[in-house]
Amino acid sequence: MAKLTDGLRSVVGDKAAKRLAALGQDGLHTIGDLLTYYPRRYETRGDLTDIASLCEGEYVTVQARIESVGNRPMRNRQGSIFEAVVTDGRGRLTLTFFGRGRQDWRQRALAPGRTGLFSGQVSSFRGKRQLSHPEFEMLEGDDSTEARAEQFASEIIPIYSASKDIFSWQIAESVKLALNAADLDADPLPASIRARYQLYDYSRALHAIHCPATDADWRRAADRLKWDEAFMLQVVLAQRRRVSTEFIAQPRPPVAGGLLDEFDQRLPFDLTAGQQVAGQVIAADLAGGHPMHRLLQGEVGSGKTVVALRAMLQVIDAAGQAALLAPTEVLAQQHYRSISQMLGPFAMAGQLGGADQATTLTLLTGSQGAAARRKALLEAASGAAGIVVGTHALLEENVQFADLGLVVIDEQHRFGVEQREALRAKSVSGRPHVLVMTATPIPRTVAITVFGDLEVTELTELPAGRSPIATHVVPVEEKPHYLARTWERVREEVAAGRQVYIVCPRIGLDSEGEPGTSGRGAGPSREEAGPSRDELADDGGFDFADLDGVDQPERRPALAVLDVAADLSAGALAGLRLAVLHGRLPAEEKDKIMLAFADGQLDVLVTTTVVEVGVDVPNATAMVIMDADRFGVSQLHQLRGRVGRGGHQGLCLLVTAAPAGPSRDRLDAVASTTDGFELSELDLEQRREGDVLGAAQAGRRSSLKLLRLTKKADKEIIGLARQEAIDLVGADPALAGQPALAAAIAAQLDAERTEYLQKA
Ligand code: ADP
Ligand code: MG
Repeated sequence: MAKLTDGLRSVVGDKAAKRLAALGQDGLHTIGDLLTYYPRRYETRGDLTDIASLCEGEYVTVQARIESVGNRPMRNRQGSIFEAVVTDGRGRLTLTFFGRGRQDWRQRALAPGRTGLFSGQVSSFRGKRQLSHPEFEMLEGDDSTEARAEQFASEIIPIYSASKDIFSWQIAESVKLALNAADLDADPLPASIRARYQLYDYSRALHAIHCPATDADWRRAADRLKWDEAFMLQVVLAQRRRVSTEFIAQPRPPVAGGLLDEFDQRLPFDLTAGQQVAGQVIAADLAGGHPMHRLLQGEVGSGKTVVALRAMLQVIDAAGQAALLAPTEVLAQQHYRSISQMLGPFAMAGQLGGADQATTLTLLTGSQGAAARRKALLEAASGAAGIVVGTHALLEENVQFADLGLVVIDEQHRFGVEQREALRAKSVSGRPHVLVMTATPIPRTVAITVFGDLEVTELTELPAGRSPIATHVVPVEEKPHYLARTWERVREEVAAGRQVYIVCPRIGLDSEGEPGTSGRGAGPSREEAGPSRDELADDGGFDFADLDGVDQPERRPALAVLDVAADLSAGALAGLRLAVLHGRLPAEEKDKIMLAFADGQLDVLVTTTVVEVGVDVPNATAMVIMDADRFGVSQLHQLRGRVGRGGHQGLCLLVTAAPAGPSRDRLDAVASTTDGFELSELDLEQRREGDVLGAAQAGRRSSLKLLRLTKKADKEIIGLARQEAIDLVGADPALAGQPALAAAIAAQLDAERTEYLQKA
């Protein structure tokens, strides 16, 4: 019998194997790939497809009855056009076949009254929807006994998502061959769990999901296969947690009268209750002999940085160093500045005015000059630097620390597992403690699924005295005068001594007209990818906007920073001090502009999503987001978190030309709540989890195919699977008693992740 890891060729033949290899995101190559290519939906033979629901451009398989046929000769060429009109009883669809001769055999096959499956791409011709040259399979058998006919009529047909080269029923045929050939006896899910939750065994589940006898059958099969997904992931995570707790870390207990104590005394505000609790939990972790692995997530503006800084100070007090890893150059600079400001004399070791116990704060980025870089490397390696703030440049091999005790990773979703691992490897005294901070809060189900190897701490409240941001949608198509009012509001803010961000999806100019920059496919962040490696995150991260363009190929290009800035400075905002900021500017230039803005020398900053994460200018009170519909929900939430950080009321205007519909609904949702957890749940519903997991895990495709993190029933499975996984791994960490599970997990983890596990 064939194994799941065997190639498809010997089972389905060369031709089908080749077509299957081009299907889906990464192609179907093995028997396992094919058997986990689950049907997208099911049709009952005899239930006709709702023709009205078909969208132009889609590859569809339609079950319909032939209503009428006709045949006419072609005008300018030999041959004929054979047309069949099919119906579901309400809508109609024309099937068109061009052929040599009279196509008599088609006449016979496609006789009026018969029902068939028709597969092709929906197009439209003279206002009528049609399938041009569809593949088809007629459904009525020649079996005339009534019982057979009835059985035939209620048979459930799996519909697979198909391509122009391979149709749904051809995929179904291949799947059947694979089901027959494959050895499915080894069940990855332990028998005890199957019994406890009354789940199908593996072979039955795979048969039932592809060839169900009833609807209940495929539902049960799907439940069981969801369990596989949830359970295997949770077992891997439980193993990771277990392995990491066995590692030794240098304990970094608090030191009375140390830098942290002095810092706390100098703090200009009181910590929120949440910050205090998080601080205590982290302090206890750091004092322990095993590495901390903690995720600190909180609402935008909830003050995660102070919490992280206090942890760093505790480690410095205990003779260690801390590294703060930021996803972009702008953000690293920003952290460097705000931390040196917060620390004041405590970061001025050996300088005039430095405090007694002061430490040194060092910045390390990819765009630094050779001399600055050498100095930074030396400070890190000698131990002179208590805190090293940096970008991806910190991960490079030549960066060494004297005694790295704590790694803080800001805005985690931009970093993959390997990057965390690379930093960990830099510690000489056991493993460093790790604190991860997310940019926007994510629902707990997602947190335990995606970051399940981390303990989770949440900051739910904002510091006192913040007025919530008021957000309004500005629909320029319907209410053009609102735009003029928008610029007036900007002027009013500036007149009151405040500052304003104007955010656009694109940079503009030379990127214009390039394929993919017209708002289709390429999201704002992608274009933002600057020349330096440090800007990688602007491209490689969680790109909410990426998906957006896909459905709407014919939109105009998104508004660009350079165009908007030019228009405004010559028009509505003439006379204001206005500058542009984007990822294509050289690093020093970006830094200079950010500094000038932070310093109040600029009124208006027209910018891309480089301001998205972490940028903190308390005097900036308003943000105008142009073409706001091109951004994702969480991204908008993160963006507006840049304003209203001081005591003044924040204002965010979402300018959009999108008509009423789903995009506008998303904007309304953002305007209606400032609860980031709620919004991220919404965001998740609209995105495929694969994007979330793929970006957050190892940049790879998700192993979750059936499981939906936002579905209530699935959340329940995740919770149960997590507990079962913890119990199993607790009793049998190496899975010695579960060879089938161990094998399935090993097969699923790709090379990088397997490597990670071995190292971890
Ligand atoms: P985020 O959690 O989004 O990273 P920050 O750490 O950037 O938030 O904090 C936002 C702002 O709030 C900063 O200016 C910070 O100094 C300030 N802040 C943090 N904690 C408090 C507090 N307890 N009281 C008042 N302001 C605070
Ligand atoms: Mg932050």
